[in-house]
Amino acid sequence: MQDCIFCKIIKGEIPCAKVYEDENVFAFLDIAPVSKGHTLVIPKEHGENLLDISDKALADTAKAAKKIAKAIVKATKADGFNFSQNNGTAAGQGVMHFHFHIIPRFKEDRLKPWPHGKYEQGEDKDIAEKISSLL
Ligand code: AMP
Ligand code: ZN
Repeated sequence: MQDCIFCKIIKGEIPCAKVYEDENVFAFLDIAPVSKGHTLVIPKEHGENLLDISDKALADTAKAAKKIAKAIVKATKADGFNFSQNNGTAAGQGVMHFHFHIIPRFKEDRLKPWPHGKYEQGEDKDIAEKISSLL
């Protein structure tokens, strides 16, 4: 993809703080980190989001991300980490090249968790059945 900034990073056309590279996967520090060590793990094969990338690209990227997360926790002495991935602008995706975020977390970092809601009576079953019927 010609205009994709992450494809450009992979090709070395845009600088980055590289963390990892293999034949199929690339990882680098997020330029605007939620916490120090916040890393993006991406497949070299361009795909917009989770539904767009191949199963192989997903498996390769997830496998590498697990290895990278272990190193991040060690390097940053994190107490935990968030492993997340946004799909679509409504979900906060800003760069349309599939990526996992690995965000080191610390006991006193005061980052807010997502707000939780609740279902009306029977609504959860209806939604679960609707999803299930499409699988
Ligand atoms: P998302 O909002 O899930 O699409 O995440 C995209 C992430 O890419 C954001 O956290 C940005 O800070 C990060 N980002 C954008 N441009 C660059 C860049 N040139 N180098 C490193 N990270 C970047
Ligand atoms: Zn791309």
